[in-house]
Amino acid sequence: MDTARIPLELLDDLSARLPGFSRADFLEAHTLPPPVSVRLNPAKPSAAFADAERVRWCADGRYLAQRPVFTLDPLLHAGAYYVQEASSMLLAHAVQKLLPERSGLRVLDLCAAPGGKSTLLASLLPQDAVLVSNEVIRTRVPLLAENLGRWGAPNVIITTADPARLAAVGPLFGAVVVDAPCSGSGLFRKDADAVDHWSREAVRLCADRQRRILREAWKVLQPGGVLIYSTCSFSAEEDEDILDWMADELGAESLPIPMPAEWGFAETRARGGVGYRASPERVRGEGFFLAGVRKVAGEEPRPARVRSAHNPKVFAQAEHLLRPSDWRCAPTGPDAWSAMTPAVEELCAALQPAVPMVRAGVPLGAPAAKGWVPAHDAALSTALSPDIPALAVGREDALLFLKREEMRTVVHAAGWQVVAYEGLPLGWVKALPGGRLNNYLPKASRIRMRIDGGTGTEDDS
Ligand code: SAM
Repeated sequence: MDTARIPLELLDDLSARLPGFSRADFLEAHTLPPPVSVRLNPAKPSAAFADAERVRWCADGRYLAQRPVFTLDPLLHAGAYYVQEASSMLLAHAVQKLLPERSGLRVLDLCAAPGGKSTLLASLLPQDAVLVSNEVIRTRVPLLAENLGRWGAPNVIITTADPARLAAVGPLFGAVVVDAPCSGSGLFRKDADAVDHWSREAVRLCADRQRRILREAWKVLQPGGVLIYSTCSFSAEEDEDILDWMADELGAESLPIPMPAEWGFAETRARGGVGYRASPERVRGEGFFLAGVRKVAGEEPRPARVRSAHNPKVFAQAEHLLRPSDWRCAPTGPDAWSAMTPAVEELCAALQPAVPMVRAGVPLGAPAAKGWVPAHDAALSTALSPDIPALAVGREDALLFLKREEMRTVVHAAGWQVVAYEGLPLGWVKALPGGRLNNYLPKASRIRMRIDGGTGTEDDS
């Protein structure tokens, strides 16, 4: 980026507040291109980026030598990987260190869209744990739901509530992640236009909002629970000063996160404890700050009221579509049903009706005049039964399917089947007698990019 665009006030603030800050090194790092990185989905193993260099603080993180046209890779749409900035993958290391026992854990990702941290958390949680992925801004929810749908974890609930509304449910969670909305200076190198929105006043307003969000987040955290706070801001007002505030106002106990010095994260000490900073002159990634704290005392959780709905027709679909498990089925919309693990069902019962829910567990689909229309996300779920017929396609047909255009593959068997690329499902087709195929990929998931001999030309923004 053109470093002349970086506000002088930001540089002055960093020089004043960060011990050892080198303006020259910081500016030089901002002249370099940002590294490209992805995080692989361990539940959907594939050949994608098999030989790529590892991100040291995240077992599934990989650096790519160059940026491919991600939109034209069917494996992205199948949920084999997520494109994510490397520094923010430090969350994986923080979870391993601060939450070593994750069986049965309930985790809330309070500021979740577009889903980078939620997909990472989902990969670290066992089947009997539950992730609630919440995003207050409704226009950002569809992308979050699409990304989590692709990722395919069955033990996820998506909600769209203001933190205060969520707080009304009480201390239900053993861990809360607050990846807070911030002034965004850590991402200037990736998105130089973000500079135009930066000001000291914006930093102050963001810090106020961060404190408001954390005050509510604290109410849903169980005593003994862990809160992980992160931002992509370089400003101490949004990072170390927030740690001080959490210690003073909430009584938060700071949790050190041991890590090798050669990773480059700077351990910074506030009065309220210790945080970890990534800055591009030291870490191969963008600007990021992360800290963990524990809640030492507070209210005990209220027991959840579990309401089971048993509908034999729906249950038969769960048994048909999904791998065997202790599935509970519940309506999640007009004529739409989902299958849930007992832990998801129990947490759903505790959240309803206070918290508006977008999705819970594995969407199964809906009854139709003749039979059942399976949900798109059932095809992408890692719980999909291996007995579901799969139509194996190559890259060209996979892209035609993703564009909702006619595929070249000839289909022999009639009925519902998943279109699978390199063994990973992309969505449903229904083959009609005579070989015609109906494509059930949701219109919103359709790729709009032109397929020009595999290089691709963007015609979407
Ligand atoms: N965790 C996300 C990820 O890894 O993909 C990125 C989250 S982004 C840094 C912050 C999120 O907080 C945005 O999605 C934004 O819509 C949401 N947000 C904005 N205002 C909020 C508020 N008052 N309370 C909670 N979340 C808010």
